[in-house]
Amino acid sequence: MKKAILVVLLAAACLVGGITRLMADEPEKIKVLIIDGQNNHDWKGTTPELKAIYEKSGRFTVDVVTTPGQGQDNSGFKPDFSKYDVITMNYTGDRWLKETDDAFEKYVREGGGLVIFHAADNAFRDWKEFNEMIAVGGWGGRNETDGPYLYVKDGEIVRDTRPGGGGSHGPQVEFRVETYTPEHPIMKGLPEAFLHCKDELYCKMRGPAKNVTILATALSKTDEGGSGYDEPMLLVIDYGKGRVFHTMLGHAAEQCKCVGFQTTLLRGTEWAATNEVTIACPDDYPAADKVSVRQ
Ligand code: ZN
Repeated sequence: MKKAILVVLLAAACLVGGITRLMADEPEKIKVLIIDGQNNHDWKGTTPELKAIYEKSGRFTVDVVTTPGQGQDNSGFKPDFSKYDVITMNYTGDRWLKETDDAFEKYVREGGGLVIFHAADNAFRDWKEFNEMIAVGGWGGRNETDGPYLYVKDGEIVRDTRPGGGGSHGPQVEFRVETYTPEHPIMKGLPEAFLHCKDELYCKMRGPAKNVTILATALSKTDEGGSGYDEPMLLVIDYGKGRVFHTMLGHAAEQCKCVGFQTTLLRGTEWAATNEVTIACPDDYPAADKVSVRQ
């Protein structure tokens, strides 16, 4: 009888020891703040997708802060950015308080991570520092006064100052996202291309385009309403001590199911937060000619 108790006690001790060891080995989770509340897109559909992608990876914890609706008083919108390792922008809409803009700029300049998700690069045409953070944006009246078009032609990066509107896309199509900077930690170890599910292929984006590295491009075909160039799809930008990851992908919840989108979002967010990437390429990563989605 006593022997049995001893065995039980020993087993319990091993279990506690094992759990303690496990906890000690596990890196601290990255704290993400998603900002939403206004968008020319279905943010109510995409925020839960983004949150689930982050949480299922086991690498992140997520808070969401939702601004008041368009035209409503947003003078109370003053999130404490400093509590987070990285901010994911799923917002385009009314300008914020100057105090909030200043806090946001300070957060990124001093080393905070930032992720720009699809239409978040439509936001804030008249906010100079935000446009430096995103490198290029579209719509909202953008034109040649906002900076050059940024694209790749014959393998070379082009900053094209010709006049014209900023931001365009044809009908949704499947398209191949091809790595342009394979040595960057976000792309390193991923296959050199993946076929993205039907989505808008953003083109003719323009902006300051400073301190920017194009990680991956997609060919925007003229017969599909595009520019004819390899348009940047994934970018990183240095802003002060802060790191920005900008993905043009992800029009709606359906597009967030693409495993290529999910993997690059996770790795880009981890990099923006920590300057390194530990998240592996999953077995169901899409091939260059085959879409892969998770329901
Ligand atoms: Zn869209």
